[in-house]
Amino acid sequence: MKNAIPIGENLKFRGINTTATCPHCGLEESMNHLFFFCSFVKQVWAKAPFKQLHVFVHNTSLRAIIEASRTFVVLPPTGLVNGPLFPWLLWSIWTTRNKKIFENRQVKASDVISQAMVQAKEWITAQSLATPPQALRVPVLTPVIQLDTIRVFSDAAWKEDSHKAGLGWIMFDPLREIEFMEGGSVQFISSPLMAEAMALHLAINQAINFKFTNI
Ligand SMILES: [Zn+2]
Repeated sequence: MKNAIPIGENLKFRGINTTATCPHCGLEESMNHLFFFCSFVKQVWAKAPFKQLHVFVHNTSLRAIIEASRTFVVLPPTGLVNGPLFPWLLWSIWTTRNKKIFENRQVKASDVISQAMVQAKEWITAQSLATPPQALRVPVLTPVIQLDTIRVFSDAAWKEDSHKAGLGWIMFDPLREIEFMEGGSVQFISSPLMAEAMALHLAINQAINFKFTNI
């Protein structure tokens, strides 16, 4: 759904493999081609045990098809009526494609389906064995700030065009009522978050140099 899958079309777009064609038929390997419209994959869908498989339309996005798949009814003899088969078929089509490319092994269309059914059944069984989810309890940690705790404040400013950052930090010792201030600038900082992290890192390093143990 995020289009991150290393399918031919995406590899080509990223300049990794300029001849990334479908391993089954040699046409351009787009997402829709590999999963729904390749002549090999059409055999898989034709044999898939769905009651009424909605006809895939060429310009439908993978997301739309996955969302529509919630309404697909799996036929009773498969024993998968209450579980999803569709995503496992997509997974099986993907691993079949990889076996063909990387191991030069051809999986038959009927085996693509039986693999998906085995995996879907394993998944369903695993769900019933899993312990029911319990409410997650996150302990609330209240920081204990004692009198001799040194307070450290850090901050950063970042320039997008030059990738330079200005960093600064203040340390305050409440017992002795002493304040330390330091700062500086650094180059080659890729983001505001990186700048903030850098300021915090330098402040902690400085605290170590000062041999502060309670900050
Ligand atoms: Zn193909």
